[in-house]
Amino acid sequence: MKEWAKENPLIITEGRGTFLKDITGKWYIDGVSSIWVTVHGHRKKEIDDAIKCQVDRISHSTLLGLTNPPAATLAGMLVKIAPKGLSRVFYSDNGSTAVEIGLKMAYQFWQHKGKKGKTRFVFLNNSYHGDTLGAVSVGGIELFHNIFSPLLFKSYKIPSPFCYRCEIGKVYPSCRLSCLKEAEKKIRRHHREIAALILEPLMQGAGGMIASPPGYLRGMKRLCSKYNVLMIADEVATGFGRTGKMFACEHEKVSPDILCLAKGITGGYLPLAATLTPERIFRAFLGKYKDLKTFFHGHTYTGNQLACASAIANLNVFKKEKTLQKMQKKIETLNRELGKIEKLKNVGDVRQKGFMVGIELVKDKKTGESYPIEEKISWNVCWKAREKGLIIRPLGNVIVLMPPLSISHHELKNLTRITAEAIKEVTE
Ligand code: PMP
Repeated sequence: MKEWAKENPLIITEGRGTFLKDITGKWYIDGVSSIWVTVHGHRKKEIDDAIKCQVDRISHSTLLGLTNPPAATLAGMLVKIAPKGLSRVFYSDNGSTAVEIGLKMAYQFWQHKGKKGKTRFVFLNNSYHGDTLGAVSVGGIELFHNIFSPLLFKSYKIPSPFCYRCEIGKVYPSCRLSCLKEAEKKIRRHHREIAALILEPLMQGAGGMIASPPGYLRGMKRLCSKYNVLMIADEVATGFGRTGKMFACEHEKVSPDILCLAKGITGGYLPLAATLTPERIFRAFLGKYKDLKTFFHGHTYTGNQLACASAIANLNVFKKEKTLQKMQKKIETLNRELGKIEKLKNVGDVRQKGFMVGIELVKDKKTGESYPIEEKISWNVCWKAREKGLIIRPLGNVIVLMPPLSISHHELKNLTRITAEAIKEVTE
């Protein structure tokens, strides 16, 4: 904080498409979609118009005991595009709350079902599910989470499917997904106490853009079914097209029991989140007034009309512009460009799923030796990129790229060119 406070703040005043403008008039590529939220670019006319139109009617009315047309319409749209079986929508306003709701629902579901002992959760090393204490209890990033450990509830940790730095000392693919076997050992031993397993499908984001090997997600789902454990898929980061499909779960044809959504849901305009469940979970909460079976959880801005109106417009643009189809060629372009970055002297690993990218910088490419924290290596790369007109952010020694889905081929090439230049200038 001391170092940061000495720097000149970058003050953003405007956005357009892939770009952000600062107070001095300089334009930058928004290389991380304003922390993984911007989908169709800044100032997308359809979303701007939807919000303006909604403001002229009403901006907010509570969803506690009432409903409203944008919230109801959006719920129907989400159910249509979500993995099969997810038919009920519970709103909140950010990724952490979507996760808290998922955890609390899973726990209460089993209470209602008479499985009173199912009170614990399984999470992955390197996982990130938000900064509230429930989410931190299932968080696996030492740097962020360790200091809070006395405040957290006990959960079971399983290995991260991190092939570049395999925790169990195996090599992919000859390991035949040994991390799944490790997970099974823990789940088999404790399944009577486990309410749910939570994971970020395909890509562990804040943990360093860690891409799981093919089959891992499906394998996890199989384990959950086998041991009667709910699967909570946290698609807060991966949802709404980031991985090249609407939801990451689709890549392995997995339908989770609980799905957490936020970030890109409004196209990056307003805070909104949703937790989706199938009928079987919804039904467990039904009862007479006096039974008090309801889910006692409600945030003030739940189902906010402006946020829901922008989310509807966001989904309509996906359809109208065939965003996901158009993206496929861009994913290939990005992949080709990343191939060049992978060859750089101090790049140890490049991980990509669609438009989610992590570039891990290493001191020694051969041994994979990490840079010590005091070198602030990735920060320095991001500062260099900023000078060159690109805004990106690091996670430890990993440089994250996550451009808006609307980025053009040309802009993508500029994004990777500047990233490569910045890495070279700082590390070589
Ligand atoms: N889950 C995941 C997978 C995330 O990446 C994030 C945010 N980076 C969150 C939850 C928390 O979201 P929010 O910051 O909106 O609370």
